[in-house]
Amino acid sequence: MSSMKNIDRLYEEEDGKNKIEKGTLYLVSTPIGNLSDMTYRAVHVLSGVDFIAAEDTRNTPKLLMHYGIKKPLVSYFEHNKAQRGREIADRLLSGESCALVTDAGTPAISDPGEDLVKLCRSLNIPTVPVPGACAAITALTISALFTAKFSFEGFLTTAKGDRRARLEAIKHDDRTVIFYEAPHKLQDTLKDLLTHLGNRNIALCRELTKINEEVINTTLEEAVGYYETVRPRGEFVIVVEGYKQSDEDSFWAKMTEHEHVDFYINQGLSKMDAIKAAAKDRKIPKGELYKKLL
Ligand code: SAM
Repeated sequence: MSSMKNIDRLYEEEDGKNKIEKGTLYLVSTPIGNLSDMTYRAVHVLSGVDFIAAEDTRNTPKLLMHYGIKKPLVSYFEHNKAQRGREIADRLLSGESCALVTDAGTPAISDPGEDLVKLCRSLNIPTVPVPGACAAITALTISALFTAKFSFEGFLTTAKGDRRARLEAIKHDDRTVIFYEAPHKLQDTLKDLLTHLGNRNIALCRELTKINEEVINTTLEEAVGYYETVRPRGEFVIVVEGYKQSDEDSFWAKMTEHEHVDFYINQGLSKMDAIKAAAKDRKIPKGELYKKLL
């Protein structure tokens, strides 16, 4: 593996900045599909630590083999994380170094990792991020929706009442919102999003960085209609446009044109400025509103 040797040399030359520290937990991001999305640093760290904690000990060996990395693996996943977390922390405290990887993407983002980081930090064990691919950010960047402000919801709970409450809580958030979903639950989730958030523009991002990568810009209504007959396949990120105040829920929606103008006059505006402001709200020319009021 001559390319591996080159990577190691690259890191040796970096003034010890990339030295693998003893007694340290490294959170190593791995590709979400395309194996070439592995970073040089991720390969270097996985090659250098004493052991690797992996969410899926059947999947991770394929990645390690691809990069010629041979390291002892321990499993760390949702159902053993309490007991295994303490064992990993003990090994770290005794001076070993560990890299945590999950099935794909960035550890601790909708997969195990958060608890291990908390435990290590509470024990003053150094924790070092090795950033890389994350499905949520990858989807957002390609969504063609507003990216400057966004929120991440991950997987919605399947408990009906809690799900409803969560969607109602975020209904008026104007930031773009990102959801993860499994293919067999996609249609139910799209329907719930439509019911609670209303019809909005979305980007359905499927199989990112894989052979069947697809990004569909559509609306919730159209997506629900589409998946009535088509079975969703692959992994999905749903990126949903944020809340936009519509004319129906604006403060003046139930006012007559006279009341609307009077509202602004009572706010201290001159009659002409009040007409101008009301016309702007109603998206009509001010001359048109003026004539109607005469
Ligand atoms: N930690 C991961 C990350 O950084 O993105 C997420 C892990 S979470 C258990 C798995 C979910 O991420 C999938 O159900 C899907 O919603 C999303 N996902 C992961 N890989 C994806 C891909 N290649 N394309 C689209 N969505 C993906």
